[in-house]
Amino acid sequence: MVEEKIENRVKELRKSLRKHEYKYYVLDNPTISDYEYDQLMEELKKIEEENPELITEDSPTQRVGGEPRDEFKKVEHSSRILSLDNAFNAQELREFDKRVQRNLDTKQYEYIVEHKIDGLSAILHYEDSIFTLGATRGNGRVGEDVTHNLKTINTIPLKLREVGVNLQLRGEIFIKKDDFKKMNKKREEEGKNPFANPRNAAAGSVRQLDPQVAAERSLSFIAYDLVEFTDQNKKISKHEQALNFLKDLGFNINWYKKCNDITEVIKVCEKWVEKREEIDFEIDGMVLKINQLTLREKLGSTSKNPRWAIAYKFPAQQKTTQVKDIIVTVGRTGALTPSAVLKPVLIDGSTVSRATLHNEDEVKRKDVRINDTVLIQKAGDVIPEIVKVIKEERTGNEEKFEMPEHCPVCGEPVYREEGEAVTRCTNISCPAQRRESILHFVSRDAMDIEGVGPSLVDQLLDNNLIEDYADLYYLEKQDLINLERMAEKSSNNVLRAIAASKDRELNRLIYALGIRHVGSSASRILADEFGSIEDLKGLSEEDLIEIDEIGPAIAESIINFFKSKHNLEALKKLKKADVRMEKRTQKENYSQHLKDKSFVFTGALDQYSRKEASRLIRQYGGDVKSSVSSKTTYLIVGENPGSKYEKAQDLNIKIIDEDAFEDLLKGGH
Ligand code: AMP
Ligand code: ZN
Repeated sequence: MVEEKIENRVKELRKSLRKHEYKYYVLDNPTISDYEYDQLMEELKKIEEENPELITEDSPTQRVGGEPRDEFKKVEHSSRILSLDNAFNAQELREFDKRVQRNLDTKQYEYIVEHKIDGLSAILHYEDSIFTLGATRGNGRVGEDVTHNLKTINTIPLKLREVGVNLQLRGEIFIKKDDFKKMNKKREEEGKNPFANPRNAAAGSVRQLDPQVAAERSLSFIAYDLVEFTDQNKKISKHEQALNFLKDLGFNINWYKKCNDITEVIKVCEKWVEKREEIDFEIDGMVLKINQLTLREKLGSTSKNPRWAIAYKFPAQQKTTQVKDIIVTVGRTGALTPSAVLKPVLIDGSTVSRATLHNEDEVKRKDVRINDTVLIQKAGDVIPEIVKVIKEERTGNEEKFEMPEHCPVCGEPVYREEGEAVTRCTNISCPAQRRESILHFVSRDAMDIEGVGPSLVDQLLDNNLIEDYADLYYLEKQDLINLERMAEKSSNNVLRAIAASKDRELNRLIYALGIRHVGSSASRILADEFGSIEDLKGLSEEDLIEIDEIGPAIAESIINFFKSKHNLEALKKLKKADVRMEKRTQKENYSQHLKDKSFVFTGALDQYSRKEASRLIRQYGGDVKSSVSSKTTYLIVGENPGSKYEKAQDLNIKIIDEDAFEDLLKGGH
């Protein structure tokens, strides 16, 4: 039994903490210092630790306490969550108003105009004044239960400021501009990709399975709609009343203005086009809603949107600034992208200092030069772009841009294929594309190195244990054992898998090298024709094109591959590590007992994937085709065979099951 005195103190502390949270987060007017607040919180935490039976869901200590989830529970919304129709100018707003007037048959209505906050919407449920469920919008019918994350948001009360209230409300979760900047700065320091915009950041945080992570992101919440509320004693007949009721309950509510007609509405909307920059979070428009709730009901909704509300979307903001430089970055696929370094300007609340120029042709088409004055624009979450060059402003000091001939990251030659817009770095060890090329190398159809996946590759790169795929063969147990999620046994397994891959067939190695355009079937042809990496290296374009299946694009990219110093070094390392670089000699080759036999599959095999089975057939000299013909030797039948089965019967083709197939592989008949 807990002493009554303690129980009372807990009640007191909770009440006081709630009051100060409300003053701090909602009213923005704290009356005690952070230190004093922390003291109260600590005292409550301590009592709860000693008396766990006193902990309640709505205690201020419970904002972050949940365990990470495996997945989100689905929540079926009790009423459909519609989206909003859009208007892009005054004309469209007037048309909306005309429709409203026609449908209502009266002019006796008011509008409430609000900010359209650029975040993601959430639906909150309160039962007996306690926050019980928070869900995302999802597809409008079914959303996800993100209660554990929403509890970490200080502007979502765990308990309402009035007793006995049951309701559902909607609002927007977002990240303030300043918090967003801080968050991205931190991410960059940690070597993580920054979020593109506050909305993505908010959405990413809400969908975290671990509430601890969500808690570290400074999310905010603003309420803008009351739904599902019935209380005989409380008469709420207007949206404005609903908003103020939500405010009384402890929420931050959306900024709003009541307007008597559409002309007034338009004035408000247009005023905010400029003023939006003064707000400390992003808004991408305004929302107008009919104030009287009975009229809303009368108007109803279409299958997608309510007829009583519409969003006015701000025009894309444009600003002029100066191009200080044009730089080239290298992406993961080796693509070189030019972008303009701009004199920083504030657009849509964020500082823009870069604009993408996409590729060489785009720079030419827009004729963007260093030192040019340009008009740039940013709309929603798209990357800022240059609308046009203001040529009247040219002084003669402008410099034309030339695509570099060497990769700015690794210095190797770049090349642009005919008919393609993109210029690429051809070096597989280019730091910009290392990770992708290593993942390709170890993949199933390439060297098939089990246990070496994205997270291990990232760790190896981050710890400078490898630079390219060839370095995998030089790893030692000591390198692996200290990595996260690696122990003695898993390290041994990885090393064993890497060693085993040294003896893969030549075609797999060729494919694994990651030569652009050279897929597994081209690799097979190249392996058959030339028999070794050494031979492949010495070929000219003419030699290559002579082969039926090899076109000029493939030929060119093979030639380019072997021009890169880094690639040649990687090949040397592979050779030194005893990786097989040529076709098996006849003696060590597999017996070719399936020579001249042609196989077709139908249905699913039990022990083998089709890929694996095909590989084995080819290994023993056989051929695999996708459809049955008179030339087919065997049809291999698995579970649920298709029409090939009947066709084989008609043509009198030998039909075998998986066991018989295995016998054939082993050399039986
Ligand atoms: P859209 O995504 O363009 O269809 O716009 C609808 C979304 O706007 C809603 O799902 C909300 O997430 C968001 N929104 C932002 N502010 C408001 C607001 N004041 N009233 C209603 N919806 C809003
Ligand atoms: Zn490069």
